[in-house]
Amino acid sequence: ELYNKVLELKGNIRVFCRCRPLNAEEISVEASMAIDFESAKDGELTVRSNGASRRTFKFDSVFGPQATQADIFQDTAPFATSVLDGYNVCIFAYGQTGTGKTFTMEGTEDARGVNFRTLEELFRIISERQKICRYDVSVSVLEVYNEQIRDLLVSGAQPGVAAKRLEVRQVGEGTHHVPGLVEAHVNNMTEVWEVLQTGSNARAVGSTNANEHSSRSHCIHCVMVKGENLLNGECTRSKLWLVDLAGSERVTKTEVQGERLKETQNINRSLSALGDVISALATKSPHIPFRNSKLTHLLQDSLERKMDSLTNGFVLSGGDSKTLMFVQISPNENDLSETLCSLNFASRVR
Ligand code: ADP
Ligand code: MG
Repeated sequence: ELYNKVLELKGNIRVFCRCRPLNAEEISVEASMAIDFESAKDGELTVRSNGASRRTFKFDSVFGPQATQADIFQDTAPFATSVLDGYNVCIFAYGQTGTGKTFTMEGTEDARGVNFRTLEELFRIISERQKICRYDVSVSVLEVYNEQIRDLLVSGAQPGVAAKRLEVRQVGEGTHHVPGLVEAHVNNMTEVWEVLQTGSNARAVGSTNANEHSSRSHCIHCVMVKGENLLNGECTRSKLWLVDLAGSERVTKTEVQGERLKETQNINRSLSALGDVISALATKSPHIPFRNSKLTHLLQDSLERKMDSLTNGFVLSGGDSKTLMFVQISPNENDLSETLCSLNFASRVR
């Protein structure tokens, strides 16, 4: 019985690896590919350098350069059902800048990403269940930059200058909240699209280099769902977090100074804190270091599993949260050392 529960829990952390295609510039200089996708169907990819050393990594799913946004979503859609069933879900995109984190999460107008598609799936299931359940959905869009939270749904918000200082507060057992954060109520996909656009536009406001700023900050969508079962009156509350993480590339201290150094240290701190938390959850460590960064603190109640101490010590009482990590990589041999760092990070959380 206990063994089954542990297995089930382990299954609550999924890691998908997605590799972007070579871009036009790389094709024009005939850049070589360092990744093999022959065993992608079995969740494996092989990294080779100069044909010499080869290393194989295993994931829950592997998506090569040909995978479409719809292919990605096919494996992601079950998480939408989980949210409506009362689970908290966190979906992250991790990787070096330029590997497609924003493409996977946000996508483009004609190739919409996980954010839009997951909400679309939520509303599809909500209408399918309308005779049995009533749901209430709202969305917040925020950014964590330099360990500060900025609300992207507040007009005139400037990067780095939090109009209101937003903080994570614990409001009761296992519940964390950011007082003052805007929660936009959404009834349909037209309203969702407006909110997503507002957030996305606000992200660029005030920064001299929008791309650079977005690669240095974590962009977070939080979807809050309240459900009521009309047959038995049972209520659920769950959250879906969609997180486009800051770029994971290593910057050496000698390359940067001043503000940029602080920024780099904050990114390194929050990404390693996230790795520590997820691997502590995966190994069922009794101490999960949520407080080491703003990001993990913010996501605490959606990452943690309920512990039940009724039977000798900690017995896991079934997971109430699910995590999906997209590890984004480049196929280019020139990016190999960053690619290996990302794949190693992913192996640690899996
Ligand atoms: P990141 O957010 O990790 O910095 P982006 O999502 O901005 O990376 O992707 C960098 C560029 O590569 C963008 O122009 C994006 O449209 C393109 N791109 C990334 N992944 C894919 C993909 N799977 N298919 C086609 N284009 C992609
Ligand atoms: Mg990006």
